[in-house]
Amino acid sequence: MDVAAGLEELEMGASRVTVDEKAMINCRADLNQLVPFKYDWAWQKYIDGCANHWMPQEINMTADVATWKSADGLSDDERRIVMRSLGYFSTADSLVANNLVLGIYRLITNPEARQYLLRQAFEEAIHTHAYQYCIESLGMDEGEVFNMYREIPSVAKKATWSLSHTQHLADPSFNTGTVEADQALLRNLIGFYCVTEGIFFYCGFTQILSMGRRNKMTGVAEQFQYILRDESMHLNFGIDVINQIKLENPHLWTAEFKQEAIQMILEGTEIEIAYARDTMPRGVLGMNSSMMEEYLHFIANRRLTQLGLPEQFPGAQNPFPWMSEIMDLRKEKNFFETRVIEYQTGGALSWD
Ligand code: FE
Repeated sequence: MDVAAGLEELEMGASRVTVDEKAMINCRADLNQLVPFKYDWAWQKYIDGCANHWMPQEINMTADVATWKSADGLSDDERRIVMRSLGYFSTADSLVANNLVLGIYRLITNPEARQYLLRQAFEEAIHTHAYQYCIESLGMDEGEVFNMYREIPSVAKKATWSLSHTQHLADPSFNTGTVEADQALLRNLIGFYCVTEGIFFYCGFTQILSMGRRNKMTGVAEQFQYILRDESMHLNFGIDVINQIKLENPHLWTAEFKQEAIQMILEGTEIEIAYARDTMPRGVLGMNSSMMEEYLHFIANRRLTQLGLPEQFPGAQNPFPWMSEIMDLRKEKNFFETRVIEYQTGGALSWD
């Protein structure tokens, strides 16, 4: 019988789980016992993710609706950026959520990492909700936006790459346990975390946040700001998971495999640069596609370094230093507008 890790039958009186038995992949110890922790960082990210909780409806979209509906609120180039961003992200985060829930959760055999994955999965749902909330508030043609990943080549290219480089995650019959399969998982994790979440999100995020900094579409920009903060944590978690798998399974990280990983980062960077050129045929919002190319080289170097691989774009500089500030921004330092959040806890309970 082939049961997913964590769904085995109970073994009465089995010995208690120790930290040494825990492993990121191919773990044989009981996965229903959260403690003792082996990966404190995974639990800490779960706590930090929860502390960053937000919901799309808390953000005021009134000014955006007025800007979007007025004839001269935005230039054609700016409108294209809003449309393309919502087009790419509205389906990308569903794809991400599917990979997480249907694949990564099953294959990562550690309860504290799974606890963060559950939090991440809910955040992806909130992101898809946020895009839908923007699309609905602005009264966009939903069919046009949600089909962009099959109709607009520069958007489709990204979706196709992500799908083909995460194919094992979506395959219910895929299992780890051999060198080839474990390498296939590692490859897909790099495709998922480092390229999809780590490169493909960055042109759109930068464009929309630049719009917000210029006081245009501030509601959409604020939604993206919270999403970016969540996403930078997803990415850091993914990098930590990949590096932990490397540490526990050094035989997977061969010279040939490293070359493949570098190649994937380079491909992702090229595809995102093509997206930047398509969405910015001219200078717009104080940026242009060659500045974005420089930024993506800088981002690619960062991803490579995080994986312990050599930089491929020596000397690339960050033309948008304000992006890093936004990523580290705490909720109460929100520079667009302040808001007070009172989460309803137990509001629906009645004891009568
Ligand atoms: Fe994400």
